[in-house]
Amino acid sequence: MGILGSRNNPDKWKNKYLDLLDDNEELEKIHQTKEDLLCKTIMRLSLATTGLNKQLDPHLIRIRKQLKNGLKSEELKLELEKFSNTVMRLEDTAPDSSLPDASLLFEFLFHYFPEQKKDIQHIEAKYEKKGYANSQYLIIAINDLIDSIQHIKPILEFPNKLDPLDTDSASIKIKLQDLLEDTEIPEKFERQVSDLKQKLSGDTPISSILNETISLLFQIKKHLQSEQKNMAVFLGQLTEQLTELGIKASGVKSNSQTFAKKRNLLDASVSSQMLELQKSSKTATQLEPLKQLVNSRLEDISLQIQKQHSYEEVEHAKTNKELDLLTAKVSKLEQETSLLKNKLDSAHQRAMHDPLTNLPNRLAYDERFALEFANLKRYQTPLSLLIWDIDFFKHINDEFGHKAGDKTLILIANLLQKYCRETDFVSRFGGEEFTMLLSNTGVQSALITANKIRKTIEKTAFNSNGKKISITVSCGLTQLISSDEGDSAFIRADKALYKAKNNGRNQCVIL
Ligand code: GH3
Ligand code: MG
Ligand code: MG
Repeated sequence: MGILGSRNNPDKWKNKYLDLLDDNEELEKIHQTKEDLLCKTIMRLSLATTGLNKQLDPHLIRIRKQLKNGLKSEELKLELEKFSNTVMRLEDTAPDSSLPDASLLFEFLFHYFPEQKKDIQHIEAKYEKKGYANSQYLIIAINDLIDSIQHIKPILEFPNKLDPLDTDSASIKIKLQDLLEDTEIPEKFERQVSDLKQKLSGDTPISSILNETISLLFQIKKHLQSEQKNMAVFLGQLTEQLTELGIKASGVKSNSQTFAKKRNLLDASVSSQMLELQKSSKTATQLEPLKQLVNSRLEDISLQIQKQHSYEEVEHAKTNKELDLLTAKVSKLEQETSLLKNKLDSAHQRAMHDPLTNLPNRLAYDERFALEFANLKRYQTPLSLLIWDIDFFKHINDEFGHKAGDKTLILIANLLQKYCRETDFVSRFGGEEFTMLLSNTGVQSALITANKIRKTIEKTAFNSNGKKISITVSCGLTQLISSDEGDSAFIRADKALYKAKNNGRNQCVIL
């Protein structure tokens, strides 16, 4: 009847089918929730057991990874089998001497499996009494216990309450607060961090704050990474600027001690500021404050360099002024010196010359004689000395006057000079006496020259007020020898002159 009745009432079947569909959907939902919770439970269990055994840890990590793909994942199945095998193998391994602290694990088990409280307490007591040879045996016992659990209802009923994170939310909050305190917060995130800190000190559930904290810390990390990149670029530019500044600072050179002192002070100051900058740059994690610090330091350095430059400019101007004054003084001194030199020269000239005849005088003769005699001694070249004396000159003075006498002296001086070679030396020795030094000339050659001159003077017509004056001269000659000393040669020549006078004058005599 049911079937026929159903045929007669198709809506009834349709409704039944739809109801069944709804039921199925509901079941699927429950199943999905259960599966999700189971996933979550395995995940948390694996987290809680991580660290208990080094051999199991890689499996636990892989299981957590596979859990993300759901319980039906083939890889998860495989991984669980592997895990199980490893656990089985652990039974045979040697027991550990010390057991790790499993209080967190038990706390977790009590929260998640309250119905198995007794069993868990039993395991815990056994573990604390070292009833398990090592932690692996503990894991096996827990594994067996979980396997024996047929349902996960309790978890369904109190999912939020049983969040292990809530077990010590206060201490986690404190940890998070410490973490935020220890983290250098960029200005940009300050407000978010302060909001978060407020939440951490309030009643907000830890699970919601945790996500927010992690996301904020991640943002901060990203920001700091980009800051670091910018900082690297900035530091590169900064190094260039500092190098340029360094070059500028040492660009102006100065020799003065004060300059050098000031320059050293500036260099020291710039170097220390640069060092400070380098230090700050190394430790800085934020770009903006570093930029501000760098800019203020650069301003300081620039200011100091500017000050140094203006100081040096003023000093340069001063030095230049002093230099100009000094140059003027030096040029004045030079003028005075050259004037003095001219005066000295003319004084020397006057001292060495006879003003009447303008011939070198006796002083000049002495000087020249010393030079020629030294040459003779060195090179053994012949040297002749001649002494001339005007005959009866007193008579000329007396008869024609002193002026005529002077005129005669001048004329004789000119003639003596005229008939000598350039290398010869003629001087007015005193009164009406003249001396001659003929270098490179033996006394016989000198005699020839002397007689030529004597004859020329004899033939020369001297006039005084229309009256003819005849003048003759006598000459005594001698050749110098290396053994001559002091006046010996002069005395010889003078004796020869005396002889010439005695022999009747107007003649030349060699001695
Ligand atoms: P002697 O032949 O023996 O040389 O006879 P002298 O007259 O030439 O010799 P003395 O020594 O007796 O006379 C030299 C004179 O020369 C004396 C002096 O007045 C004169 N006399 C010396 N110096 C100058 C001078 O500068 N100007 C003039 N006009 N006469 C001078
Ligand atoms: Mg004389
Ligand atoms: Mg004379």
